[in-house]
Amino acid sequence: MKALYPGSFDPITNGHLDVLQRARKVFDQLTVAVVENPRKAPLFSAEERRRLVEESLKEVGIEDVPVITYSGLLIECAKRLGVVAIVRGLRATSDFDYEFQMALMNRDLDSDIETVFFMTAGEYSFLSSSIVKEVKRYGGDVSKFVPRCVERALEEKFKQK
Ligand code: ADP
Repeated sequence: MKALYPGSFDPITNGHLDVLQRARKVFDQLTVAVVENPRKAPLFSAEERRRLVEESLKEVGIEDVPVITYSGLLIECAKRLGVVAIVRGLRATSDFDYEFQMALMNRDLDSDIETVFFMTAGEYSFLSSSIVKEVKRYGGDVSKFVPRCVERALEEKFKQK
């Protein structure tokens, strides 16, 4: 069974990786799909975000998860790839409303594709790409929360700004 794990990944964190590793145990084939134009203006370009996901996967020794970018409707991307499920991560109840809306809309658009949620590990339940960027922007240590390549990319990005 094939599944797609979509998101902004601006940038990928250990929370995303935790969900990805859980999903990989359940599905035979998993693809990460980085959305080109996320809801919020991204810090990293789509290609930078895609590359950081790829490098992070290498860091944790995962070699069988392709990483693509997509624009437009997620469900169209899912259909093109022939997946049976869309994977999403759940942290706290604050994720629920938006995820519920998205899942039901996507089901309306294609009732054959299910959205499947994975609970993150407790230690990542407060972690988000936004909080990582905020802390790193002001020089805080985020090494426990992101792969090394992401930490370096954040340093570079904030040096340029
Ligand atoms: P989006 O803009 O599509 O929500 P994100 O990159 O913010 O993209 O998140 C992609 C998915 O990963 C979402 O389902 C989100 O809830 C989940 N996610 C993000 N951070 C974590 C985390 N720390 N633990 C578990 N899931 C997470």
